[in-house]
Amino acid sequence: MEERKEIRLPETEEGTVLFNVPFPKDLQDLRRMAPIIIKHHYEIDYIHSYAQDSPFFAGLANKKLLGTRCQRCNYTYAAPRLHCMECGEGCDWVELPQEGRIHTFTVCYYGSEEFLKETPFILALIEFEEVNTLFLTRVVGLDPERASLDWIGMRVKAKFRRLSKFKPTDVYFVPIQK
Ligand SMILES: [Zn+2]
Repeated sequence: MEERKEIRLPETEEGTVLFNVPFPKDLQDLRRMAPIIIKHHYEIDYIHSYAQDSPFFAGLANKKLLGTRCQRCNYTYAAPRLHCMECGEGCDWVELPQEGRIHTFTVCYYGSEEFLKETPFILALIEFEEVNTLFLTRVVGLDPERASLDWIGMRVKAKFRRLSKFKPTDVYFVPIQK
């Protein structure tokens, strides 16, 4: 027996373009109207200012990891901060060490659209000596499928994308080879 294949054109999303719809004389009939569903292309260019955080991204483009330090109480943040969370005084920019330790981590099996294709990946909080807060970043070079508590405390170092995208992902951390 010869196999019978159904012959048909491929389906596409395009169909009839609707220019008008019938409209009833009696408005009561509108209650029975089916919903109108349209296809509408949506795309935007988003212009966003980094404002006072700009030096942090300029640092990444120059292979420097910048944090901030309170002018009064010396509390040191592994993040851009205009004012101290502890005492409210202004902060100065400081260069953070490029070596630290994994304080904690998680393996991401799901992510936003931008990162979905990169899952699973490891997101970690890095601790630095003489810095009071942790730095959230990607750790590359460990197998996410073999996550282990042995990773806690592991020494890691910063790596920077050669072509900066001026995004927080311009920096990531890798284990320091012994
Ligand atoms: Zn302070």
